[in-house]
Amino acid sequence: MPYFDHNATTPLAPRAREAWLRAVDESWQNPSSPYREAARVRIRLDQAREQLALLLGCPAARVVFNSGATEGANAVFAHWAGSLAADRVVAVNPTEHPCVLEAARQSFPPERLVELRIDRNGVVDLAALAALLAGGADAPRAAVGAVAVMAANNETGVIQPWREIGALCRAHGAAYFCDGAQWLGKVTAAGLGGAGWVTASAHKFGGPKGTGFLVVPEQAEGFHAQRGGEQEGGRRAGTEDYPAVAALVAALADAEGSRVLRETERQRWRDSFLARLHAVLPGARVVGAGAERLWNTVSLLLPHSENHRWVLKLDRRGFQVSTGSACATGREGPSHVLAALGLAPDEARRVIRVSAGWETSAEDWSRLAEALIETEAELRAASPDLVKTAWAARGN
Ligand code: PLP
Repeated sequence: MPYFDHNATTPLAPRAREAWLRAVDESWQNPSSPYREAARVRIRLDQAREQLALLLGCPAARVVFNSGATEGANAVFAHWAGSLAADRVVAVNPTEHPCVLEAARQSFPPERLVELRIDRNGVVDLAALAALLAGGADAPRAAVGAVAVMAANNETGVIQPWREIGALCRAHGAAYFCDGAQWLGKVTAAGLGGAGWVTASAHKFGGPKGTGFLVVPEQAEGFHAQRGGEQEGGRRAGTEDYPAVAALVAALADAEGSRVLRETERQRWRDSFLARLHAVLPGARVVGAGAERLWNTVSLLLPHSENHRWVLKLDRRGFQVSTGSACATGREGPSHVLAALGLAPDEARRVIRVSAGWETSAEDWSRLAEALIETEAELRAASPDLVKTAWAARGN
């Protein structure tokens, strides 16, 4: 059954599965225990840390294994709340994942949070950020102590200029948090570890769920995600899950070594899918089309009918796609990301998210295009009046 919801989670990559099975069979002891078998697990854990750090381009001592990006974001904001001077504000990209936005709101009062300016595709305005950091004319009175901008958006796949943002923050002495959850496994990991505070979840790139990491920058004195033990250099207490870590690293190494090399080919498959759709459904449009986007993600504004109707009909045809972010499923109201990009609520309710992965083939993409075309005809036949109104409103 073609799976097009990789931004929600991915199937376990075969190499990650192998690494996990080997570790649960052979390296299950507590790495903090005092005998030789446990010491061997400790060594393997540290080797995995080194391998991950090498892929990310940061010192191994900065890598803290954790349960994933939600924990990472919450830990960073809690740390900032306790460590930034009281006159400092935090600048946040409005299209961040809810785990970042909620952590920001929980940790800081509204007057200490500044919303970053974005363009109509959702890309952070670098000139506005530079002015904000430099304390320009329209900058707030308080200085910016920290900035949060993700590497790539989970709903639209729009890529942020995280390298430039990291450099700007360093130049102005501000901390930078980069949520790398949707970047890793799709685009090269190289350099991401040097951006600042960086977090990600293994299950977004072929690893197991409930495991991930946080890169803690050098100047982060007194950082503790969890207290109560000396694990992870005292920065995150709790017994390490070595088998999950082994699978995480195997999944990322596999993505870096093989799949990423085929990025251009995958982009072509996605582009053929879009060309076919545009030819038959001229009313369909890609959200964030004017920006650089991940090869795997298409946020599709459909010509008519609510997204959940499309999702149900596609599901019956055997295609798993999403109405947006999995975390927003079941919530009232349209997505905050689409609203920030200027979509009206009735448009946002017509958006579906298609996200491919390492096992998606060219044929899966073309079959999805045909399924969408058939679904459109079916929905049009079911509600001709609704469809007429929607198309008239769009000028189609
Ligand atoms: N950040 C982004 C961009 C995401 O897409 C997600 C998951 O959807 C998360 C953070 C949270 O990841 P997790 O649920 O693994 O903690």
